[in-house]
Amino acid sequence: MKEYKITLLKGDGIGPEIVDQAVKVLNKTAEKFGFAVSYDEALLGGCAIDATGMPLPQETIDKCKAADSTLLGAVGGPKWDNLPGNQRPEAGLLGIRGALGLFANLRPAVIFEPLRAASPLKDEIIGGAMDIMIVRELTGGIYFGERGRKEVNGHPAAFDTEMYTVPEIERIARVAFDLARKRSNRVCSVDKANVLESSRLWRETVTRVHKEEYPDVELTYMYVDNCAMQLVRNPKQFDVIVTSNIFGDILSDEASMISGSIGMLASASLGSGKSGLYEPVHGSAPDIAGTDTANPLATILSVAMMLKYSLGEPDAAKAIEDAVAKVLEIARTADIAADGMKKVGCREMGDLVCGLI
Ligand code: NAD
Repeated sequence: MKEYKITLLKGDGIGPEIVDQAVKVLNKTAEKFGFAVSYDEALLGGCAIDATGMPLPQETIDKCKAADSTLLGAVGGPKWDNLPGNQRPEAGLLGIRGALGLFANLRPAVIFEPLRAASPLKDEIIGGAMDIMIVRELTGGIYFGERGRKEVNGHPAAFDTEMYTVPEIERIARVAFDLARKRSNRVCSVDKANVLESSRLWRETVTRVHKEEYPDVELTYMYVDNCAMQLVRNPKQFDVIVTSNIFGDILSDEASMISGSIGMLASASLGSGKSGLYEPVHGSAPDIAGTDTANPLATILSVAMMLKYSLGEPDAAKAIEDAVAKVLEIARTADIAADGMKKVGCREMGDLVCGLI
């Protein structure tokens, strides 16, 4: 029997509660689809600061590198808010992504039919269904480029540099094209090539990779300002969107709002190997930690992404996605509560999803 090794980074706040439910669901899927899962836990964020004095201990990096994939809850909370930037829990997050060489961030924006009313967009704009995958470059561009302060014409000034190398663009383009082949076979590359030289190189490179390696995938281009508009005007035109770090940061938040609920949004960060880091988009929600009211579905859907993109178990992934779609018709956690629908806590939601698998 195949056995997958998963490292759990439960983190802070609601992190442990939601990860426990996701593990329950993964175990249920393993039983049903005939594979085994072994777990190892490691510290990240505030809990790591408390135990070791730093947000990302070396042991955590080693355990994540040794695993087939890592599942992360969330990190941070008021207890650690006054620490200097590089010692805060969030520094652990950036650190682990860097240490594992995760250069591609995948954020699906999906509207589950029973949650349609939670979307701020009108029914006629959403149309039949919405299922977008935003592929954001995660380790290059302006967030990592040269920056500094200087004086210009006697005035204090500051600069940040957007730079991409051809190999950085090639590898993120391949992630997007590979994903599109497993979906509706369409990629939209988003840039600002009418103004930025780095975007012109981005577009040239995506075009070449497409021509040489993925001619079967439909490729279109869009300027980022237009894309921001099109996402709320006609979101169903998109399948996979591939874009740079800063544009992806902004567009993925915009797209996720269309789906209406932060407690439902999963994400994956991938590198050049098979393993990845999977986590909900939301934070550690310290305001509701320990109350058994958190919505575990984003973390459960992150496990589905892990099964699909890292473990090669697409049927198990589909079973989880179907169970989540079904559970929304019978029960809701407080954040997505609706009249006439049973209100459940975090643990019960996990149990219900298991029961539907
Ligand atoms: P947040 O996402 O934690 O919470 C925002 C609001 O959404 C809160 O009202 C919270 O109760 C609610 N919420 C979030 N997830 C929920 C869930 N699963 N179920 C029900 N309700 C949920 O964002 P914030 O309040 O800005 O940040 C809180 C802490 O989390 C901060 O320390 C922040 O730095 C950290 N954070 C961590 C990550 C991460 O670990 N990836 C991401 C964002 C924020």
